[in-house]
Amino acid sequence: MKIGFIGLGIMGKPMAKNLLKAGYELIVNDLNQDAVSELVNYGASSLPTARDVSGACDVILTMLPNSPHVKQAVLGEGGVIEGAKAGSILVDMSSISPIVSREISQALSEKQVIMLDAPVSGGEPKAIDGTLAIMVGGPEDAFAKVEDILKVMGKSVTLVGEIGSGNIAKLANQIMVASNLAGMAEALVLATKANVDPEKVFRAVRVGLAGSTVLDAKAPLVLDRNFNPGFRIDLHIKDLQNALDTAQSLDSPVPISTSVIEMMKSLSSQGKGSNDHGGLVQWYEQMAKIEVRSK
Ligand code: NAD
Repeated sequence: MKIGFIGLGIMGKPMAKNLLKAGYELIVNDLNQDAVSELVNYGASSLPTARDVSGACDVILTMLPNSPHVKQAVLGEGGVIEGAKAGSILVDMSSISPIVSREISQALSEKQVIMLDAPVSGGEPKAIDGTLAIMVGGPEDAFAKVEDILKVMGKSVTLVGEIGSGNIAKLANQIMVASNLAGMAEALVLATKANVDPEKVFRAVRVGLAGSTVLDAKAPLVLDRNFNPGFRIDLHIKDLQNALDTAQSLDSPVPISTSVIEMMKSLSSQGKGSNDHGGLVQWYEQMAKIEVRSK
């Protein structure tokens, strides 16, 4: 089966490489020709437009930054919709607004093209290992057709519900990660203010109820003052903005997301948008005029 892969960035590149390693025939496309060349050297072929890719493939995967990029690549001039055959399946693995996923799916359905939204969690290391968590929205029969492809890239592949549900799950994920990060930062700054070693506080609580994957992954980096990404603050702002827009359309309360996005935007405006999102602690540190680090 020929698979199209559009969007070869931090995440898309290793995901595409894993599909090649698994023996799939891949046709790739990206605005960045260096990324395309890297994949061609790895065994993929390439075509110049998303329209050409969709015309040559039964399954097309997209891994693009945000809603406008997916709209452009799928519905824009030279986009997927212009080449796609009836019955082909578009799997959008980008983290975008679920409202936009539904809009794009609606437009594609007029050409009998089926769409799944399948955003991922896990970041570059898990994209490289092929152990992402993939959350999927869309029709069950289309999901069954692409499940084996998704399992090459993910350790867990879950059909959550109808189209848009994958991105709702991803927003839920990002809200929980944001609130965990803020709770961790608030707590470690408080401990530091109290002149208690924040590293010992981390070790004391990590196996209790406050322990979490976020705490284990991010507290050691904060204590080492290592804010290299990882997952950039600017990307988390994008996801929380999608959460706020979606919440507004549903009349659902999001006070925690509203607070954390303000903290992240304040750091971004200071030039820290490319810091890892664990760098959120710097907002609390600025307020408290203190720095969290191991003693
Ligand atoms: P990225 O910016 O590194 O890559 C995006 C790629 O899309 C770039 O290579 C760009 O040239 C290409 N592109 C943009 N518009 C295009 C178009 N119209 N046609 C063809 N190519 C186009 O982004 P990324 O970090 O790989 O993230 C992709 C998605 O995955 C985002 O939605 C992000 O939120 C999500 N995500 C990222 C991470 C992470 O840790 N980076 C983790 C989980 C989910």
